[in-house]
Amino acid sequence: MGCAHDLAIMGYDVTVFEALPDVGGMLRYGIPEYRLPRGVIDREAAIIERLGATFKTGTALTAEYNFRALREEGFEAFFISIGAMRGRDLNIPGSDKDGVVKAVDYLLNLNRGYQVNLGDRVVVIGGGSVALDAARTAVREFYNPMEEIEMTAEAVVAQPAMDAARGALRSGASEVHVISLESLEEMPASRTIQGKEELREALEEGVKLHPAWGPRAILGGERVEGVEFVNCTRVFDENGRFNPEFDESNTMTLETDSVVLA
Ligand SMILES: Cc1cc2nc3c(=O)[nH]c(=O)nc-3n(C[C@H](O)[C@H](O)[C@H](O)COP(=O)(O)OP(=O)(O)OC[C@H]3O[C@@H](n4cnc5c(N)ncnc54)[C@H](O)[C@@H]3O)c2cc1C
Repeated sequence: MGCAHDLAIMGYDVTVFEALPDVGGMLRYGIPEYRLPRGVIDREAAIIERLGATFKTGTALTAEYNFRALREEGFEAFFISIGAMRGRDLNIPGSDKDGVVKAVDYLLNLNRGYQVNLGDRVVVIGGGSVALDAARTAVREFYNPMEEIEMTAEAVVAQPAMDAARGALRSGASEVHVISLESLEEMPASRTIQGKEELREALEEGVKLHPAWGPRAILGGERVEGVEFVNCTRVFDENGRFNPEFDESNTMTLETDSVVLA
């Protein structure tokens, strides 16, 4: 959309091909609505259309409908920005059990209007923005459907107050844990002002943080029943490289109905 915006201003005749039903990519289908109201994306899209760009939604480029086909339609240059929509895997025993989902898949499904039942207790593995989005969305799924809230830009400014109010409404029956390899100070979410704010809001909403733990195994039968963690004593070595060390004698097990990999 950024490229279409700039090219349209420069006077080019621009068409955006989008596979999904609406434009915005991860902004619309990944980032939760409480953080980015869809009206903001709609307004941006409307501005780009007013500048002269055309959106062809629900139109994926494929092996058949390819650049050759587009050239035949008269297009002369292509800017490819198909994103990175695949979620992260975790290579530990049990990660193929039912109830283990990727955060991006979870958010994409919810944002496309599909039901995703994570159960009452959720473990989110990861310490970045996506982990917090998944955790805070899971909390919201339990206590208050998003559609009940009018999503405006003003609502975002008032978000912490609204979150606290909604947190108070929470039944208390559900648990959402976020587990990160890094200490609280090292967590990716702690490295930006926005991330710090999200951490604070997540805690206010009842998300439980467990820094400095690494997942060792996902437990259960066919379906996940728990996760075993081992204490992480160091994430980065003296050269600043990712090189975690663990204290194998210090372990923790969390019972859970589902695991979200972020
Ligand atoms: C949960 C989450 C939270 C995030 N939070 C933040 C944040 O707080 N701040 C921040 O700056 N960034 C954040 N990001 C990252 C941000 O969303 C991305 O950096 C940004 O969306 C990347 O834009 P993009 O256009 O490159 O790709 P995308 O947004 O992934 O868009 C790619 C588009 O291409 C379409 N497409 C793919 N294949 C085809 C095809 N064959 N034919 C036609 N269309 C196709 C897709 O449907 C999609 O609409 C977050 C991401 C996620 C997932």
